[in-house]
Amino acid sequence: MLSQEELALYQRQLIIKGWGKEAQEKIKNTHLFIAGAGGLASPAALYCAVAGFGKITICDFDTISLSNLNRQILHNHSRMGMHKADSAYATLTQTNPYIQVEIKNTKITAKNINTLLENSHIILDCLDNFETRHILNKACVKLHKPLIHAGVEGFSGQLTVVIPHQTPCLSCFLPKKSIKNPIPVAGVTPGVMGTLQAMEAIKLATGLGIVTAGKLLLFDGLAMRFSSITLEQNPVCKVCRK
Ligand SMILES: [Zn+2]
Repeated sequence: MLSQEELALYQRQLIIKGWGKEAQEKIKNTHLFIAGAGGLASPAALYCAVAGFGKITICDFDTISLSNLNRQILHNHSRMGMHKADSAYATLTQTNPYIQVEIKNTKITAKNINTLLENSHIILDCLDNFETRHILNKACVKLHKPLIHAGVEGFSGQLTVVIPHQTPCLSCFLPKKSIKNPIPVAGVTPGVMGTLQAMEAIKLATGLGIVTAGKLLLFDGLAMRFSSITLEQNPVCKVCRK
């Protein structure tokens, strides 16, 4: 049930055609797991928090350094050296006190991932490396949990929603290892792509609209152009074709 305060807080979205109390309650009953607390997670977590997701778990083991702050708007200069998960908790609980925020101050590994994802309904891939993405993808396919993937470089970004056993998985098309480290990135690019991840999370939770499943959305910020390509399942994919 939504309280009077929540009805007031979400009023402007409740009046969207097709949204209403029913969709808002679905959002409230949805537990999101956000992998990473960096550039993509910053807008994704902020917009998911203000949308009213009942519980948001955010997982990151890293600490805040100066070079993070051109894009990681969950954090700020007064929190230098602080764990990103703790900083995310401070920001998100202030942004929306009507939701539950849980933090996991840990590195995602093949060993702990199943436990980490245990009670969550939708997973957001806000990571910055392919190695951990593949661990997350494998667990989502195994546990039948939808995964909203995004990635950025420079002024370019990509996004897809993996619906296990319905769409190709990340392992079908993503390289095994990260090529560049550090990845060059303009803060606005994860700003766009993380916001789109939040939009897909809202659509998955409510059933509104059509999510970017089975397709890879490509964003070219310099040309200001969105395009998409159809993803093909890799017939020999070790993750989704067993
Ligand atoms: Zn696959």
